[in-house]
Amino acid sequence: MTALKKPVIAGNWKMYKTIAEARELAEAVARGWPQVKAATLILIPPFTAIQEVKKAVSGTEIRVGAQDVFWEEKGAFTGEISALQLREAGCDFVVIGHSERRQYFGESDETVRKKTQAALAHGLQPVVCIGESLAERENGQTLTRIKDQLERSVFSLTEADFSQVLLAYEPIWAIGTGRNATPQQAEEVQAFIRSLIKAKYGNKVADCAIILYGGSVKPSNALSLAREKDVDGFLVGGASLEADSFLAIAREALRADEGLK
Ligand code: PEP
Repeated sequence: MTALKKPVIAGNWKMYKTIAEARELAEAVARGWPQVKAATLILIPPFTAIQEVKKAVSGTEIRVGAQDVFWEEKGAFTGEISALQLREAGCDFVVIGHSERRQYFGESDETVRKKTQAALAHGLQPVVCIGESLAERENGQTLTRIKDQLERSVFSLTEADFSQVLLAYEPIWAIGTGRNATPQQAEEVQAFIRSLIKAKYGNKVADCAIILYGGSVKPSNALSLAREKDVDGFLVGGASLEADSFLAIAREALRADEGLK
């Protein structure tokens, strides 16, 4: 984390929370994070709760995102949601290429590329997820996999567009498993990602790039992960479903940012 950046802590609520439950959780997060500007908190509820969550955090610094987007603006695409519709509902961010989407819904680096471009065209900041499987890690293919994913999805963007993208390194074997990457494992990959950005877009873009870590982040492991130089915040799944644990993670990220680096 450089001095100019602030940590980003994003909570991916996946397919959890009714509208009423989402409102309650967003209100609890807002109560626990009054006007704190030193970090960016992003709540990412299911589509049905976006507007309600947006209302619940109005007047605070907390931002709202969506979990997916389709690349077309409108048309006969039953079940899909466009970037325009997400903007209208109050989103500033959208997660693209989450491993669960890749695994269960056939997302590829090519669909990630198209979705990222569509999001950017409508002023949504994409949070693009990349990460290796357990087999890839065990076969020593982690860095090759990461490089391929970046080259096929976001490295065709212009510098201006790429500068709007947040990346989330999420090793698949660490998502929802309770088994997080060690700080050293996260740092190795995230430093590699930054070096690729540097080679492609130059030092300034690389230094400003936000690279989140995601995969079983909890209050108990957040500080040690956040202390790593190339960990700029977190994409949190399970632990974002309770305000207390999500806020505790955000506080640990701030603590790391405020003095321990
Ligand atoms: C996620 O959904 O992006 C995630 C990292 O989940 P969890 O924190 O539950 O591993």
